[in-house]
Amino acid sequence: MRTIVLSGAASGIGAAVRSRLERDGCRVLGVDLRDAEVVADLSDAAGRERALAEVRALAGERLDGLVACAGIGPQFEPRSRILSVNYFGAIALLDGLRPLLACGEAPAAVAVSSNSATIAPGADGPLAAACLAGDEGEARRLAEETDGATAYAASKLALARWVRRQATRPEWAGAGIRLNAVAPGAVRTPLLEEGLEHPVFGAAIRGFPIPLGGRFGRPEQIAAAICFLLSSDASFCCGSVLFVDGGSDALLRADVC
Ligand code: NAD
Repeated sequence: MRTIVLSGAASGIGAAVRSRLERDGCRVLGVDLRDAEVVADLSDAAGRERALAEVRALAGERLDGLVACAGIGPQFEPRSRILSVNYFGAIALLDGLRPLLACGEAPAAVAVSSNSATIAPGADGPLAAACLAGDEGEARRLAEETDGATAYAASKLALARWVRRQATRPEWAGAGIRLNAVAPGAVRTPLLEEGLEHPVFGAAIRGFPIPLGGRFGRPEQIAAAICFLLSSDASFCCGSVLFVDGGSDALLRADVC
């Protein structure tokens, strides 16, 4: 039986991933603020350490998969927390659990980025650079100086870029661990519902072009992509960022490939 660690397992996309993995006979170790095997707050160092310690205790000697899915949306205040959860919380799990993955069977890890990483103007700037430099204090400071949409997009751009930089390294690909990312578009979850209710973000989300039927995605559609990247069907995927967004990224950046 494969053992998969899944952050953000209590809601939305994470809950859909859990359902699918459990249906396929996997053992899921959820990490979340509530309703999970490991209840921990990934927004700070103490919570991340607790999460890692409890996962290690439950997992035993190996892990076969990891999905870093926990995240908060652009509407969240304070904005500094967006960086701490979406980027530094994700990296802490990916880095911290890599040695256990290296002992797993056909191990794979998937980070949940977003198409806002490539679409949102201003994502690629000092904030993403501070993340990639590992400077959480500076990233948190810069996040408070910018708007929520930019802070969110920067956190997701940095995460996707981290995946692409790390995936080919000896400790990941060289150790036989496949590392990839998904970049969802707008998906009907509590995170999106909160955004839709926001006075500024609501209109922006509703106005966003989605070529495939103009509809928001369903969590199950993102879960299918994540489970593909975890599976042996994706055995030659390494460092990929898979857009699952109804065509929004292709529409806005057709010639970037
Ligand atoms: P959601 O709010 O339904 O689920 C997010 C989960 O993360 C929740 O269970 C929450 O408790 C958990 N979480 C939040 N902060 C945490 C913390 N500090 N420590 C531990 N767990 C924490 O949202 P969702 O839409 O399912 O989002 C899942 C991922 O998908 C996020 O990373 C999000 O940024 C990304 N995403 C979502 C959309 C979308 O439109 N829904 C689009 C692109 C990317």
